[in-house]
Amino acid sequence: MLDKIVIANRGEIALRILRACKELGIKTVAVHSTADRDLKHVRLADESVCIGPPSSTESYLNVPALISAAEVTDAVGIHPGYGFLSENADFAERVEQSGFTFIGPKAETIRIMGDKVKAIEAMKKAGVPCVPGSDGPLGDDADDNMRMAKEIGYPIIIKAAGGGGGRGMRVVHSEAHLLSAISLTKSEAGSFFGNDMVYMEKYLENPRHVEIQVLADTHGNAIHLGERDCSMQRRHQKVIEEAPAPGISEELRQEIGGRCAQACVDIGYRGAGTFEFLYEDGEFYFIEMNTRVQVEHPVTEMITGVDIVREQLRIAAGEKLAYTQDDIVIRGHAFECRINAEDPVTFMPSPGKISRVHMAGGPGVRVDSHIYAGYTVPPHYDSMIGKLITHGEDRATAIARMETALTETLVEGIKTNIPLHRELFKDANFRAGQTNIHYLEKKLGL
Ligand code: ADP
Repeated sequence: MLDKIVIANRGEIALRILRACKELGIKTVAVHSTADRDLKHVRLADESVCIGPPSSTESYLNVPALISAAEVTDAVGIHPGYGFLSENADFAERVEQSGFTFIGPKAETIRIMGDKVKAIEAMKKAGVPCVPGSDGPLGDDADDNMRMAKEIGYPIIIKAAGGGGGRGMRVVHSEAHLLSAISLTKSEAGSFFGNDMVYMEKYLENPRHVEIQVLADTHGNAIHLGERDCSMQRRHQKVIEEAPAPGISEELRQEIGGRCAQACVDIGYRGAGTFEFLYEDGEFYFIEMNTRVQVEHPVTEMITGVDIVREQLRIAAGEKLAYTQDDIVIRGHAFECRINAEDPVTFMPSPGKISRVHMAGGPGVRVDSHIYAGYTVPPHYDSMIGKLITHGEDRATAIARMETALTETLVEGIKTNIPLHRELFKDANFRAGQTNIHYLEKKLGL
């Protein structure tokens, strides 16, 4: 097993990684900015290193500081968590070149998946279904592009190969707007992402977001852990996630999951990963792969019993997957609410000192959070302060448990989006599993 690792992240995911390390007997080094001295995992880690001032660029994104932290503490590996440098191929490369284990895929895999055109190409080759589209980057020939869009059929979406975080995309409803949309997206992509390559896809009107969790070791084994539905989104940010996705049959799950697992073997994938799909009228359409642990991984852990972070660490240590596909049995249903320090109506961030906290409990309730009474939520980072997860033998039970858990949860001193979650769990369509990626924004009147 790995002897000691640096946890190159903060907040709830840093605590989550620390807990997995403790179970496996791995020593931990917490790195933190000057604004984060009071984070829970910093107190619980074996060692801690301050890596810079509050600004992320000077701390959690500061590659030399992170590598030095690993050097001075004699760590052997670095876990990047999610966000920050977790999908930065140059960082993964620097970590490995400096003699440390990067707890994630190879740098070259991250690089391919970070380029959507290359990722789609790799997926098509591996037999993963993709959205009908331009089969590569768009050229400069206006007639060609118009012919292609007509063939695909409007509406279409122009997307930047290097895009991310919901930026660098433009929907086109008719031919009259096509060429201007291409050139606008191209110039935006050039300035945002330093890569002006764009491509074209059919725009799906009312899809759901359904994603497949995979695990792959370095011995040629790969499995899938079923799917999650993350359709409840606002500005491309997921708000509530669930597993399994409503209405996906076991047969369809094995079919699409099996293709994803096989794709992992084909591309030499290593570690935990997620294949994100849009799902419409019974069909899956690949949109991108996330090469890291995701915020919503707990819902999958609840229904499969697999500790995804522990598997990441075992895989990085060169061990074989602890499970075969046949070992993975889905039991019951799980939901996750992302709890943010924000105004539940305006969504304005609400950092500050938490005066009182009472967390929910009881059967099938899990809380992944770093907050405590007296903790001050700094204004410098993402506003997520924790995740409330419930599990039940069926969807109705998981919903009932979430409603009770949301009633029990109390966070005082700052505003949170808990009142919004309470409202959403009353929504008849959501309760019936009938939403799509636009549902939440429409409900909020956006
Ligand atoms: P990013 O990397 O910026 O998150 P994605 O490719 O994952 O970009 O797309 C983000 C979101 O944009 C999707 O979740 C979906 O809401 C929307 N989207 C992307 N491609 C399409 C498409 N072909 N049809 C409809 N919506 C799309």
